[in-house]
Amino acid sequence: MISSSVAVNHIPEKKIEYRYDTTGRWFKGSLHLHTVSSDSHLTFDELVAKYAAKKYDFISVTDHWCLPRPSGSRDAAALMVINGVEIDGFDNLGSYYHVLAIGAKPEASVLTGNFTKSLRDFYAQGAVLIWAHPHWTGNSLREGMRHKFHGLEVYNHSSECENGSGYALSYWDGMLLHNPDFLGFATDDSHFIPGQPSWNGGWIMVNAAACTQQEILQNIRRGNFYSSQGPDFSSIKYGRNTVKITTSPVTYIRLIGPRRTGQHLNALDKEPLRQAEFELPPDWHSARIEIEDAAGKKAWSNPLWQNYSRMSRQVAAGTGATLPPGRHSILPFQG
Ligand SMILES: [Zn+2]
Ligand SMILES: [Zn+2]
Repeated sequence: MISSSVAVNHIPEKKIEYRYDTTGRWFKGSLHLHTVSSDSHLTFDELVAKYAAKKYDFISVTDHWCLPRPSGSRDAAALMVINGVEIDGFDNLGSYYHVLAIGAKPEASVLTGNFTKSLRDFYAQGAVLIWAHPHWTGNSLREGMRHKFHGLEVYNHSSECENGSGYALSYWDGMLLHNPDFLGFATDDSHFIPGQPSWNGGWIMVNAAACTQQEILQNIRRGNFYSSQGPDFSSIKYGRNTVKITTSPVTYIRLIGPRRTGQHLNALDKEPLRQAEFELPPDWHSARIEIEDAAGKKAWSNPLWQNYSRMSRQVAAGTGATLPPGRHSILPFQG
């Protein structure tokens, strides 16, 4: 679990943690969905039937400011449903946001319509807070840094279909410079507007022992999932200072580091790639992997190091190990 270069820098082994344990099963999930309880055209049961037919294992129904619907009789048989909600509003500085709270507890007291209070309450509950469609909303990177989001929508399928604002890769890489644990989520944000289905275009694959709410949420919090528009990661493993992945057939495999750094393999004029091994540069404070298939569909890993922010704080407080050179370059959060 530790690279030779890290050892050279005298880093205690336990301080560097790699994300991903892909020894469980993969479960397909959609975390951003709407029903007739807010502004979608499908009922809850119709939505469950749609996603179950596409082999999803779990969904989170995130109606606007709506308490989760009590589980219906079909839920257990069709797919697992995680409590969720989408809130929107202005923060104290007048910036407008949409945010998903996944695993939110259905308490009326947190759905008062007060955006910043609800955000604080959901965070205190332990819900996973996802900065939704920042490009579509028109947020700035600075606005993303202002609140305690656990991650962002790296791809929102409805936003992409509607006006081409579905991707948030530059936001993600910008956030990773400040918080190397920041997670990426692909979602549908489906509303089933007639003539604009916009669904099954972005999802997450969670590796877990079982498809229970507790197992799935725990592995989402750990970032033990990837986001996809089509291609799949089968396994993500580590050597001494390398990451090894196996995938569905793809044309590109990219290791993406901070700013101008990165490496890639391609299968142009060759048989598709199904695996790759990259050396992990010790001076990167974050690294993530992107794969792309022949149709241009992509999948994204989360950052490979985890708890990096905590490690950085320990270093800053003088209570942790010295990090390798270059990893000190994490930028402070700004208000
Ligand atoms: Zn929204
Ligand atoms: Zn939405």
